Amino acid sequence: MKDIEMCTCSFCGRPQKAAKKLIASPNGDSFICDDCIRICSDIIKEESMKLRVFKDLTIPSPKEIKKSLDGFVIGQEQAKKVLSVAVFNHYKRINYNYHNKINASKKNKDDTKNQNVLELEKSNVLMIGPTGSGKTLLVKTLARILDVPFACADATTLTEAGYVGEDVENVLLKLIQNADYDIEKAQRGIIYIDEIDKVARKSENRSLTRDVGGEGVQQALLKIIESTVASVPPQGGRKHPQQEMLQIDTTNILFICGGAFVGLEDIIHKRLSSTAIGFNANIKNSDEKAKVDFAKDVQPDDLIKFGLIPEFVGRLPIVTGLDNLDDKALQRILVEPKNSLIKQYQQMFKIDGFEIKFEDEAIAYIAQKAIELKTGARGIRTIMETKMLELMFDLPDPEIYDKIIITRDFIENNGEPVLIKKQKDQEAV
Ligand code: ADP
Repeated sequence: MKDIEMCTCSFCGRPQKAAKKLIASPNGDSFICDDCIRICSDIIKEESMKLRVFKDLTIPSPKEIKKSLDGFVIGQEQAKKVLSVAVFNHYKRINYNYHNKINASKKNKDDTKNQNVLELEKSNVLMIGPTGSGKTLLVKTLARILDVPFACADATTLTEAGYVGEDVENVLLKLIQNADYDIEKAQRGIIYIDEIDKVARKSENRSLTRDVGGEGVQQALLKIIESTVASVPPQGGRKHPQQEMLQIDTTNILFICGGAFVGLEDIIHKRLSSTAIGFNANIKNSDEKAKVDFAKDVQPDDLIKFGLIPEFVGRLPIVTGLDNLDDKALQRILVEPKNSLIKQYQQMFKIDGFEIKFEDEAIAYIAQKAIELKTGARGIRTIMETKMLELMFDLPDPEIYDKIIITRDFIENNGEPVLIKKQKDQEAV
């Protein structure tokens, strides 16, 4: 047996004097210090955490996902269906690849070479739809349903690294922050890049000069959308204790891009009508153009003509479209979603002791006004906020009244709301 005073940790080489505790192996040949025990224990904990995270990743079926989306997103049936299947397949793919990797690592190397394991590639999604039609809401809700981290970025604020503006890597940082710095969790998150149509190249020909706002951003995004291990500076938030940079693997991050793509419909119509020229061609004039179904009618070439670079289009194989929200849809949006604006106002007034009711006529008028604003469902919030401000500023006396009725006159002509007195002397004023 060695003299314990002379012994050093077999892992880090620390002498007995410098360590709080040095533990000998049963045969007394090697030693481990308390610090190394702690590090080993952390590694084991981390590994078992990883396994647990993957085991716990139960994915609802596409039908269940769609049903949950229905509770928050009105209409947009096609987009909800496409996204439900896309995310279901995405997480199924992660589990499949992960289990293949585990199985492969259990076998010896020769075996794994011979094993013909099929690696499933991820399919990112492109959503085409007007502003305020629910693109961001859909992705945000999906992430909540699946309990995965989510980050959203506006493509117009992004630039290539080094240019003035937000670096593309910052989107990854946002995701890491939303995962509470759990990199493992962030690596299975969802990123939504909005306004992707705004970084389209201006012309189809590649220019020799740098295109900071357009193609350059697409190139930079391409890198993270494809599988890469990105180094992210942990600016601002909590610093990682050991590293300067956070390393994040983007292989399993699902990227969903969205944009209004104004003008894409014309490109599609042009293509369709040019292919229709012929003996039986039935060329429609511009007034009778059939409505484009983006999920079925968009070809990669149309997106390239629009200004997306081919490599980028190749990374977004799933395309779906969202409809312009009509009057009826906007009325439903005011009332039906689990967290609809009206339900939120009702809750807010309830805190002050009031029951608040919106008359159907008032709801119809708000929807009609929102259509005029041409900002989709966003218009609803703008109208509601300006109209309700006065009422919230000058609340009725809760000692006397307990019910407020919002009429069309209140919304349209800044009229007075109908106030109902408390039960004991119930009469409308
Ligand atoms: P987009 O990303 O398409 O521009 P958003 O998803 O940001 O639009 O929509 C803005 C807001 O409008 C949402 O937060 C939500 O309150 C409401 N909204 C938009 N579309 C819908 C919809 N289809 N169903 C329910 N609410 C919607």
